[in-house]
Amino acid sequence: MVYELDPLPRTDTPSDYTRFKFDPANVGEKRIVGLLACQRDPLLRSLRTKIHSIREASIKAPPPPKGKNKQKKGVVNGNGDAKAKEEDKGRLYEIELLDTVIFPEGGGQPSDMGHIKLLGDTNDDKRESYVVEGCLRKKLDSVHLVRVPPGTDIDWKEGDEVEVHVDWERRVDHTSCHTSQHLLSAILDRMELPTLSWSMHAYPSLEPIYVELPRALTFQEAEQVEKECNDLIMQNNKIWVDISVQGQEQGQAEEVGHGNADDSDLTTLAERLKINKGIPDDYEGGVIRHINIDRTDRNACCGTQFPSLAHVSLMHIIPPTTSSSSTTKLYFVAGPRAIRYLQNASRQLSAVAKIVGSGRADVVDRLDNNEKNRKELFDNVKDLRGELSDLIIQKALSENERIMCIKRENQKATHDFEFLGTVANTLISTVSEQKNVDDAVVVLTSTLHASKTVPETQTLLLISSKDDKLAKGVNEDFKKGLGDRIKGGGARGRYMSKISGKWSRKEDALVQGLLDELRSAKA
Ligand SMILES: [Zn+2]
Repeated sequence: MVYELDPLPRTDTPSDYTRFKFDPANVGEKRIVGLLACQRDPLLRSLRTKIHSIREASIKAPPPPKGKNKQKKGVVNGNGDAKAKEEDKGRLYEIELLDTVIFPEGGGQPSDMGHIKLLGDTNDDKRESYVVEGCLRKKLDSVHLVRVPPGTDIDWKEGDEVEVHVDWERRVDHTSCHTSQHLLSAILDRMELPTLSWSMHAYPSLEPIYVELPRALTFQEAEQVEKECNDLIMQNNKIWVDISVQGQEQGQAEEVGHGNADDSDLTTLAERLKINKGIPDDYEGGVIRHINIDRTDRNACCGTQFPSLAHVSLMHIIPPTTSSSSTTKLYFVAGPRAIRYLQNASRQLSAVAKIVGSGRADVVDRLDNNEKNRKELFDNVKDLRGELSDLIIQKALSENERIMCIKRENQKATHDFEFLGTVANTLISTVSEQKNVDDAVVVLTSTLHASKTVPETQTLLLISSKDDKLAKGVNEDFKKGLGDRIKGGGARGRYMSKISGKWSRKEDALVQGLLDELRSAKA
């Protein structure tokens, strides 16, 4: 027995796409979610229908997609500061239609957008048309969120005839992502890798979609899975939907479905699999839809699935770069998103090739080489700094003073406390050993003068001694001399400070004065 619901306008979708497993004769005039025109014919772009109800919405903007509440700062949503900005855009209305081509969010697939046009006596270009910014499922109802611009009065009422249009690019993007997710999950199931959850960002995002798996795929496995998916897309396997009444569904038990974006908080696999049967708690008294991909898969799902795999065109699995034996996300792109993603990747490759000065094909070799050279250079610099510190120490030792001062200027490569610390430590221990004293003091300054590449002059000051009291005292003298330009601290014979502002003869004289005082006090 073949059952029918009243026919929709014809598209390329085969007439046996939607297969009723019950007699829908008693289905009400207003279509519930599960039986919407967008779910019975995913290729239908517009539909004439009537308004079932219209009311001003209690929210100012569509809520963020489910499971994606962690929005980035500054993203406009229905909460907090963003509210004020939203109000300038006009009021939001909730409109329910008898039927619609606009898919409300569900099963991990974000909501469609589009517009609704009032039909009536006026000619076409005078007909009022409003943008559908989102669509929500409220239990069995599909609620369009319609934006009415500021200064506009809407006098639409129940029973008015309207034409509803879906934003096609957005729909094709979302459907490509969702259908390819079913395909990918089916292939992964064969490898005993159940899909624990999946998630996608709404159009026009270039973000890859992911399926969460018990472990990571190897590079080779990912390549093989991608090939199998694309082979099936080439074979253009047919896709159809079985619709049963909730509680009387056939064959829903033999397949464990895929999750959706809401599942991220669930902790146990059992809990996930329970939810993954695909029926939300607040969807009672509705229908169960099973999406079938010929010879490949059968899964409960409410999304707008293509009538055959060729519509996906192409899938690309992002090659994994790390291995993991625990729960891991496998990222992929499909359909027009895959094309945009790969175009973007290709442009990036050209940009990288330009930066490293090689052909596109040689980028990996070039970067590999560069990285080896960088590591070698790093080791060389380390050796050079060691050698340099020895030279500096030899020079300081030749001055035959217990209070030694080393002044360095514009040595960018060694303008850091680590280098100064190495010099000071080695110097102190050499002096202590050679002269058998514990009261040697090292005063080190390193100044980088302001220039094109250095925004402002900064001087580092390091005072070091085995005698903490002595070092601390010298440090205090410097602090008094330089006032609030000096900031720093220290302990156990080692005091480090940064001195801001110009360093001129005046400062040199100040340092010299302090050293002279110390030397005469020590003598
Ligand atoms: Zn699905």
